[in-house]
Amino acid sequence: MDRVTGAFYDGTRVRAGTVGWEDGVITEVTSSRAKAPLAKGLVLPAFWNAHTHLGDAVVTQELRGSLEDLVAPPHGLKHRVLARAKDDAVIAAMRRAMTTMVRTGTVGFTDFREGGLRGLKLLYAAHAALPVRGVVLGRPGGLAYDGHEVAALLRASDGIAVSARADWPPGDLENVARDARHAGKPFALHASERVREDIDAVLDLKPAFLVHMVHATDADFERCSDADVPIVVCPRSNAFFGMTPDIPRMLRAGVEVRLGTDNAMINAPSMLREMEMAYRVARGRGGIAAKEVLDMALRGRKLLDAGAVPGIRTGDPADLVVLDVPGGPHGLASLLRAVASDIVLVVAGGTPWHAATLPQRPARAPASRRPAT
Ligand SMILES: [Zn+2]
Repeated sequence: MDRVTGAFYDGTRVRAGTVGWEDGVITEVTSSRAKAPLAKGLVLPAFWNAHTHLGDAVVTQELRGSLEDLVAPPHGLKHRVLARAKDDAVIAAMRRAMTTMVRTGTVGFTDFREGGLRGLKLLYAAHAALPVRGVVLGRPGGLAYDGHEVAALLRASDGIAVSARADWPPGDLENVARDARHAGKPFALHASERVREDIDAVLDLKPAFLVHMVHATDADFERCSDADVPIVVCPRSNAFFGMTPDIPRMLRAGVEVRLGTDNAMINAPSMLREMEMAYRVARGRGGIAAKEVLDMALRGRKLLDAGAVPGIRTGDPADLVVLDVPGGPHGLASLLRAVASDIVLVVAGGTPWHAATLPQRPARAPASRRPAT
């Protein structure tokens, strides 16, 4: 059995003790100290990045312009670059982003993959053999419903996720969402990111979760809470465009909040950075506890395993991150000040990766072509 020792998060608080695992499953959680542990420090469940667009990592230029200029389909900068980029460049960029995730303690992610079937193939090629689990949500290549295309996407992916309801012709997105539901796979989308959208029309699509909801009202949050639809917030992405998600208000309405890093061309997919930002922007709206921020960084796993609970328990997958930060009862406050170099061990599916042995980034820098102007 492998063990790590120090202080660990039990889902309620940080306690002194040891976590051990065998065959990829946590089999021991005790309050005693271990002799010869693999690492010592603050032991947390490894993070789950609940919202990424990893393909964007191929865009390496300085970003100027509005949300529409940069990310809106079909003519935003990212879509123009992705359409013109060579497959190898997109694969290398996504692999680099995934490597960053592992190196910063994330062992799972939920990606909104653009580019139809080709987009899915590129992500699977990038993912090969990396110790990170991806829930990959594809989308049609265009903004119109084609039943054959959606069926093929659903066979090749974990579900469907699209930009926003307003980007689609009336009725088409309802058909896409219905097909995903009939296939028993999640459907998700961005909502109320730039302007407020009709929450009833959005929730009629039966989404597994919504992303952003920056311009939503209290009534909108209550509708999400009543419908048990979680909201994924991406505060660094919002801040890039001069916006702030109101996380305390979402929580007061009873919404389950998850955390994601959004576009890889805007933010490195580091959950440490996103947690720090979430905590900071929440302070301006009344504040949230460090524990809530950590739980937000763990709940994305529920898309894969609805019964997953934040906190280290026997029987859970051995996905852990160990940080060399001041532990004790204030360990979670230390987490919000942690940086990537504080990570001493990442355990993914029971396999330990010490800082020096973490997967290396691709040697070749991804070459992004300048978009046509
Ligand atoms: Zn997004």
